[in-house]
Amino acid sequence: MDISYIINELGETREQYFNAIAPPIIQTSNFRVQRVDELKALFEDEHSGYLYSRGLNPTVEILRQKLAALDGAEETLVFNSGASAIFAGILANVKAGDHVVAVEKPYTWAQRMFDVILPRFGVTTTYIDGTRIEHFERAILPNTTLIYLESPNSWDYKLQPLKQVAELARSEGIVTMIDNSYCSPLYQRPIGFGIDLSMQTATKYIGGHSDTVGGVLSGTAAMMKKIFDSEFLNTGSGIQPFNAWLLIRGLRTLPTRLERISRSTQAVAAWIKAHPLVEGILFPFDESFPQYALARQQMQGACGLLSFYVRARAHDEIVTFCESLKHIMMAVSWGGHESLILPKCASLTAAEFDPNIKEHRMLRLYTGLEDPDYLIRDLEQAFQAAW
Ligand SMILES: *Cc1c(COP(=O)(O)O)cnc(C)c1O
Repeated sequence: MDISYIINELGETREQYFNAIAPPIIQTSNFRVQRVDELKALFEDEHSGYLYSRGLNPTVEILRQKLAALDGAEETLVFNSGASAIFAGILANVKAGDHVVAVEKPYTWAQRMFDVILPRFGVTTTYIDGTRIEHFERAILPNTTLIYLESPNSWDYKLQPLKQVAELARSEGIVTMIDNSYCSPLYQRPIGFGIDLSMQTATKYIGGHSDTVGGVLSGTAAMMKKIFDSEFLNTGSGIQPFNAWLLIRGLRTLPTRLERISRSTQAVAAWIKAHPLVEGILFPFDESFPQYALARQQMQGACGLLSFYVRARAHDEIVTFCESLKHIMMAVSWGGHESLILPKCASLTAAEFDPNIKEHRMLRLYTGLEDPDYLIRDLEQAFQAAW
């Protein structure tokens, strides 16, 4: 299916709503049912039609169809945050006594799930360096039911060999789930590699304007039906119609924004890499990246996020650098129109800062839609202010 078709037409039955180009926001909690036997069918299977917007809703339906097609999946559920999509995908695939193999340093709220919530139900997790398939082979136990991936990671961009991991998991009857937020389905399609569940936050690139929170989970029809009937309906964490509408709007410009961000990121990355106060950069499509070949093989693009190490000797040098930026803002999240910076040392006191630990000197930059020269000038003046 053409991406242009998916984004502009798929799922949009315009003749049903006055041929309006933009879809309606069907802001309703419930739907009228005209016959008792229809009601019976809906009670038996809420997935079979419109009953109540905690389940299915027509505006959300348009978004679901587009996202499923982009992921190359049979079905997609859209949640009111990436974190709730992570929660549902993991919870649906473990029971008391099971074991999870997860990549080390996954997204915060995936890690909290493994460290805080699952242990309360007797589910244990082994964290591994996911760069090599042998590490997965060694970590799998007889009671492993889930392998949790994040490729690339959103701070150090470590990748996992997705096809190999999917094949290994299939042969052992283990479900695989990935956080595909860094790439979005435009730049990486994990389901095509045999991964069972592909999750991404819609808050970042899909929304694209830093004005809504959402999450996407895609997989087979059977897997998604199981999640719909249980975790999705029971936690009531589906996306609301207005937020779904914002995400449909975001999708219209997704390819264009990613193209622009890819070009700008390359320009900014090249400038940062050449700066005398920078010790090195981490970016999957930079030739110095340790898994550059795998990145080129698995990903159609890399953009937006990159990290770099500054030659700082003290905490306050990094503080001054970040606080001197005039246009690039300090904030969590990424994927919007605005460029952002985050220093890794924000969680340290000045006394805890150790310049010999490279990670303490790491900053993460998100390149947004601004002119790259405008961003480079901002970085330059902040370097001058700090050093
Ligand atoms: C932001 C983010 C999430 C969580 O998404 P929310 O929509 O904020 O809940 C998950 N994974 C990664 C890599 C993220 O950056």
